[in-house]
Amino acid sequence: MQHNWSRYLRLIFGFLIASTGVGLFFGQPLLGLLAGLVVYLAWTLVQARKLYQWLANPSATDGAPESLGMWGDIFDGLHRLNQGHLRSRDRLLAQINRVQESTNAMRDGVIMTDSRGAMEWWNGSAEYLLGFQRRSDRGQFIHNLIRTPAFKTYFDARDYREPLDITSPAKPHIHLQIQISLFGDDDRLIVAKDVTRLFQLEQMRRDFVGNVSHEMRTPLTVISGYLETLVDNANDLPPKWRRAIVTMAQQASRMEALITDLILLSKIETGEQSMADSVTDVHSLITQISNDAKALSGEQNHEIQLDIGERRLLRGDESQIRSAFSNLIFNAVKYTPAGGRIAVCWHTDRTGAHLSVRDTGIGIDPVHIPRLTERFYRADPSRHKETGGTGLGLAIVKHVLLNHDGNLEIKSRIGDGSEFICHFPRERLAERPPEPQPTN
Ligand code: ADP
Repeated sequence: MQHNWSRYLRLIFGFLIASTGVGLFFGQPLLGLLAGLVVYLAWTLVQARKLYQWLANPSATDGAPESLGMWGDIFDGLHRLNQGHLRSRDRLLAQINRVQESTNAMRDGVIMTDSRGAMEWWNGSAEYLLGFQRRSDRGQFIHNLIRTPAFKTYFDARDYREPLDITSPAKPHIHLQIQISLFGDDDRLIVAKDVTRLFQLEQMRRDFVGNVSHEMRTPLTVISGYLETLVDNANDLPPKWRRAIVTMAQQASRMEALITDLILLSKIETGEQSMADSVTDVHSLITQISNDAKALSGEQNHEIQLDIGERRLLRGDESQIRSAFSNLIFNAVKYTPAGGRIAVCWHTDRTGAHLSVRDTGIGIDPVHIPRLTERFYRADPSRHKETGGTGLGLAIVKHVLLNHDGNLEIKSRIGDGSEFICHFPRERLAERPPEPQPTN
């Protein structure tokens, strides 16, 4: 190019010298130079016009305009540059199409929004699962299309470690699991997975456990009723039967306790039990439970201390809250040797309300703590016969707290006692006691 450039300069100067020479021949060298400059300027303007027209509409001509010398080189260079751009644009478009095709082929709904939730792009499955319309919904806020309050809270919270389960706004029989990832400039990539089958299986499992427990309750009540009568009249029985009858009566009452807990758990899980939004006076509830705990402790003489803060009103289902608190307080009695201390403390702070049940009992190896709330999980399986527990207590506590937007914290070390803390959010605290029900 450098080589061509000096050649073109030489040509221009040669042309101007020649035109001056012609002028000199006619005795007017300056006029000759001027005529040469005017001719060169006119030619340059013609080429600039060609360039201007080509740039304004490159697709009108097939390739770059024809020209000579320096202008020919400029046109060829620009043409090559343009071709390169077109090729890389086509390559990029092909890649974008491929990504879009593959995302469209996905069974999961994929949606891209900006940080405020304005929808930029979504695939075919999102249209099917969530009922979005390709033409009208672009740029709409996703909260206007998925109106579930839990979705808005999840979207705004920016904590996407756990997925969110919702029902589809367009097809209520479809259950979706929503997972959000942040990308780019605080934009969101939302993936909606159809988990209807899994949801139905889980529902079937819960219904099955609930139904079986219900069906077993009646025959078991009859059996334990007869056994109790036999135990009451044990003295009339032949001695070899006495022990057998007493053991059978004990096992029957364990099975009854188990079935009662299974039914309760399945009701709490399925939401069958109405989540009555009554207001519970925690002070009187804990006092009643601690009296029952003293009865349970009996001759073991546990010392039960209560420390209940000023704000005592909790919004929620009283019978569920009672089950949760009594499971924790009774566990403290069961897993604390005779004479031990149990401290029950209810306090509130900026984050919400907290019930702590601390004991000086046998403690739990920290390896078991993450699994303690699973059904039938026991830290020390050899002890459960002594305590007579069902293995469902902490599972019940966990589900009750989930129903009340709370969570359970467990702190314990073997031999150091344990502390179980129920955390409730601030919104669960109430200011005024429940209105007295009118009596007719
Ligand atoms: P269980 O009916 O066996 O008590 P839970 O679900 O109430 O069932 O408790 C699960 C397990 O957690 C218990 O088997 C026990 O090993 C452990 N655990 C619960 N509470 C305590 C406690 N206060 N101290 C020590 N271990 C406890």
